Amino acid sequence: MFHFDNSFVRDLPGLYERWNADTAPDPSLVALNDAHAESLGLEPAFLRTPDGIAILCGNAVPDGAEPVAQAYAGHQFGGFSPRLGDGRALLLGEHIDPSGKRHDIHLKGSGRTPFARGGDGKATLGPMLREQLMCEAMHALGVPTTRALATVATGEQVARETLLPGAIFVRTASSHLRVGSFQYAATHEDPSLLQRLLDYAIARHHPHAADADNPALAFLHAVLDAQASLVATWMSLGFVHGVMNTDNVTISGETIDYGPCAFMDAYDPATVFSSIDHGGRYAYGNQPQITQWNLARLAEPLLPFIDPDQDAAIEAATDALRTFPDVYERRYSERMRAKLGLNADTADVPDVPELLDGLLALMAADHVDWTTCWRSLSSAARGDREPVRLQFVDLAGIDAWLDRWEPHVDTDAATAMDAVNPVYIPRNHLVEEALTAAVDGDLTAAEQLTEVLGEPYVLQPGMERYAQPAPADFGRYRTFC
Ligand code: AMP
Ligand code: MG
Ligand code: MG
Repeated sequence: MFHFDNSFVRDLPGLYERWNADTAPDPSLVALNDAHAESLGLEPAFLRTPDGIAILCGNAVPDGAEPVAQAYAGHQFGGFSPRLGDGRALLLGEHIDPSGKRHDIHLKGSGRTPFARGGDGKATLGPMLREQLMCEAMHALGVPTTRALATVATGEQVARETLLPGAIFVRTASSHLRVGSFQYAATHEDPSLLQRLLDYAIARHHPHAADADNPALAFLHAVLDAQASLVATWMSLGFVHGVMNTDNVTISGETIDYGPCAFMDAYDPATVFSSIDHGGRYAYGNQPQITQWNLARLAEPLLPFIDPDQDAAIEAATDALRTFPDVYERRYSERMRAKLGLNADTADVPDVPELLDGLLALMAADHVDWTTCWRSLSSAARGDREPVRLQFVDLAGIDAWLDRWEPHVDTDAATAMDAVNPVYIPRNHLVEEALTAAVDGDLTAAEQLTEVLGEPYVLQPGMERYAQPAPADFGRYRTFC
């Protein structure tokens, strides 16, 4: 079943501590992602047995696994912590799937590790199920992301404001290497660690960089590309990550660490959900800029490998980082062009950026729902403006905008738009409703929501409720991590 090949443990001593999970007293499976298990070559039927659940909750270590807590550092809200690491999580090992692809298998909520500092090492059911739901929704939307394999209740009560059911979330990732991994290696007593990490990260994620004249610089460019593309995707879908600390920025370009994240309803670039993001550092509209800042933190430990002459290294790294706005803008405008139904072959459309800005300004002024508005545009492309007009107060404004845009689109464009403008996103009120019921022992709503979100671009009969924005009395949404 499992085929472990633990390259991280083999190649990067110094970047982890070997560790074992706490024993879960009475584990029970809450959610299993059958489709993902199958794609990994794991048998869902086995994972549902007591022996399977014992592996998923860390009570049994499968043959070939070598559990470790990974070390990393990170800038959290701009302040540097030299030692973060997996305080409540373990990398079980790297599983090779039947196609030969490598996946980290990771347990979150498995007990205190040497990196736990003041924390209890535990996780609770609501947030772990939330991560499962959100990351699978992102995957279905086409966003690079860590994946959910399972959520297991441990049978233990965990003290938060009240006692809550403990849980372990089992995720997979193409790796857990982060910007913070490099920041940690850079301060390590063994100077060879950083070089080994760089070689390892290049080989695992950006192998073409090995052939470049300057592999470290090519690696920086590759991570920059992957992150620019990722964040452009987030922006096009209205996703707010919420905690873009450098320890939550992957080298692979996958979305990781679904803590306080949420999707924006009404369009407002200042949207913040996280209760601890007081300054709005990680607001929706700041995500591209903060990504560039985070990439600068990656560049710092790479400097000695970019050029032994420090001034030359800084100049080369700065030049690389300065490409970020253009690289990001290219990715973002590709996405937004597609959302507008203006494909690359409609090159004759004048001033696409102006057209986009015009729509965004109207949406912001009228607090229009991001997801609903984008999806409704395809109706206008098919000749029915009303679904769009319904959402605006400034009817003269939206009519004038539609007058400019409609000549460039047709029914073919509408079909293409429906493949990039989702009907369904994990609406905040629906997620809360599903998680509240799940923590009370009723998984029906969470399972139903997961099913609808599995086909986000396809209109599903009878599922209108899942496409509606939150009712007004839901109020302002706040998230906690
Ligand atoms: P996060 O905000 O989830 O990205 O975590 C930031 C850091 O806090 C990481 O080093 C986590 O391992 C650690 N951490 C978060 N919650 C706990 C907990 N309950 N016990 C121990 N460490 C934790
Ligand atoms: Mg984290
Ligand atoms: Mg977290």
